[in-house]
Amino acid sequence: MTHHEAKVGHLQPIDELLLDDEAIAEQVMKVKQDRNAVILVHNYQRPEVQDIADLTGDSLGLSREAARTEADVIVFCGVHFMAETAYILSPEKVVLLPEMSAGCPMADMATAEEVLKVREEHPGATVVSYVNTSAAVKAVSDYCCTSANAAQVLEAVEGDEILFVPDRNLAVYAASYVDKKVIPWDGFCPTHEYITKEQVEQSLEEHPEAEVIAHPECRSEVLEMAHHVRSTSGMLDTVVLSPAREFIVATESGMLYPLSRVAPDKKFYPVAGEPICPNMKLTTLSKVLWALQTLEPRVTVPEDTRVRALRAVERMIALG
Ligand code: SF4
Repeated sequence: MTHHEAKVGHLQPIDELLLDDEAIAEQVMKVKQDRNAVILVHNYQRPEVQDIADLTGDSLGLSREAARTEADVIVFCGVHFMAETAYILSPEKVVLLPEMSAGCPMADMATAEEVLKVREEHPGATVVSYVNTSAAVKAVSDYCCTSANAAQVLEAVEGDEILFVPDRNLAVYAASYVDKKVIPWDGFCPTHEYITKEQVEQSLEEHPEAEVIAHPECRSEVLEMAHHVRSTSGMLDTVVLSPAREFIVATESGMLYPLSRVAPDKKFYPVAGEPICPNMKLTTLSKVLWALQTLEPRVTVPEDTRVRALRAVERMIALG
């Protein structure tokens, strides 16, 4: 035995030092109560993280529900703009993002400075920002929207020229429902952008009885093949109501877990290629526990930005 091997032999294997998921989840529940915290979990998160949620869903829905609770602390298991959105609606609460580096590449494709510059080039345009934007971008927008209500927001806002930030795929999809000039920002979600028509065809060959349910962040050629185009919360309602027994799911593969929970008697297949958002997978149970124990890392938004971003969200809500 070498000197090095002898030293290593004295160490405890790392997995003996670590608690299993169940033990960590139990601790999370205890510390959560002490902190009077609410745990919000996006539909794309790891299954074991979804299992400790007080609320699961999409980003704006979760933030709105959390704002109505008496909790002192929000733990947002998702990505950075989601925690910002929670803070915009609940500045009196401590908002924690268990993994601070969990960002959204699509949200990063638009900065407030860039949006202001394009606004100048289109002085008459109304600016509608998808919720997948930073607080700073929301603050320079007229309205916010979600993937569920994008077309209704485009229809309801004043003006016939609309700058839609940042998702070009959602912009084109929503614009197909309205008779207005929509200028799409050139952004996209890499996870959805790389789902191809060929992958959908391959999945349909493998599961010919299945219906395709796709998120509107997918490219139009994929959406054209879908039986249903839905936001993540819309998908949950649709699979329950649809008479179909099998679905090919064209969105981030984490969605299969909540779908299987709401419709356990139906079959769900990830679209070929099994798209994953690496940022959504960064949050683990241990990080949630650490965040609750330390009340870090926190997400805040400067007050002037928060107030202007809130205005864009409230104007969307006022549209009904
Ligand atoms: S799935 Fe796409 S839009 Fe959602 S967080 Fe990941 S990169 Fe952003």
